[in-house]
Amino acid sequence: MTPYLHQLYPALADTLPHLALNAAPTPVRRLTSLDTTGSELWVKDDSVFGDGGWGGNKVRKLEWLLPDARRLGRRTIVTVGGLGTNWGLATALYGREQGLKTVLALVDQPVDEHVRRQLERLRASGAQLHFTHTKLRTVLAAPYLLARGFSGRTPPYLLPAGGSSPVGALGYVEAALELAAQVRAGELPEPSHIVTAVGSGGTVAGLSLGLRLAGLATRAVGVVVNDTLRLDEPTLNRLATRTANLLRARGANIPETVTRTANLDIVTDWLGPGYGQPTPEARTAQTLSADLEHLTLEPVYTAKAMAALLDLDAHHRLTPGPVVYLNTNGPR
Ligand SMILES: *Cc1c(COP(=O)(O)O)cnc(C)c1O
Repeated sequence: MTPYLHQLYPALADTLPHLALNAAPTPVRRLTSLDTTGSELWVKDDSVFGDGGWGGNKVRKLEWLLPDARRLGRRTIVTVGGLGTNWGLATALYGREQGLKTVLALVDQPVDEHVRRQLERLRASGAQLHFTHTKLRTVLAAPYLLARGFSGRTPPYLLPAGGSSPVGALGYVEAALELAAQVRAGELPEPSHIVTAVGSGGTVAGLSLGLRLAGLATRAVGVVVNDTLRLDEPTLNRLATRTANLLRARGANIPETVTRTANLDIVTDWLGPGYGQPTPEARTAQTLSADLEHLTLEPVYTAKAMAALLDLDAHHRLTPGPVVYLNTNGPR
């Protein structure tokens, strides 16, 4: 299927190649047991996104990042993540299928059973792993990592944590256009809010831009779960604007009024002690989601986002609804 972005802006078909890693729009369904206090709740379930051995929101970004790397003739991707990085694993698995090698710098995060399992899979993925432990040591190791990423004289394709470059954010511009098509088809009513976790920001920034391009009045609500990156509202608005400017530079005609409209809200009360640190609210949200809605969340991102949604909704901060919860978790 032609991506919505190419349908909307045909000029992009030649300048921003797309690699389909998933066959159909991800499903939306009503959450009937969780919405006892506020607005009508829905889920858009991106956990099923990804035809390969791994799923979730990072695969949407790779649909644009991998062909961009190949277009530039790159052979290696150099990027960074925590020890349990979903991003690094998705990049290694889907990059390998495209003939791209992955070099990963790994910084420490709290190690639990989930993180240990992720590390096992990272080791098996064929990615070259460098344990740099801290952000500072990763920066100091950058020249070495870059050198490891050269393939002959071809430089590596460098990506920030989480793949949240403007090209990566296109994955969620596309997802917002997909949601808009589902609204038009009558699969769900137009939401007043869509809530998602913010780990590196590409997801919420892409959504914010995509919703506006689609002509939806829906606001994107980002729940910050990472304190190791700058993820405030101006920074994330800037990423959305940089993404719009990328589309403009590649031939899309996007009016200035679109990028001036504010539709992004960032909430920061759900992080707890830090990135990857469990919170009681997230644990409760995880249990409720599993028991009442058969929705499998994980503690680092999705359970904290659900905890925020339930509390904001209970305090009538997401009115009038409906409210869409974006499930970014992608276990396989
Ligand atoms: C990375 C990740 C997020 C956050 O997405 P960003 O685009 O990095 O903000 C949310 N949920 C899961 C499961 C993730 O792996």
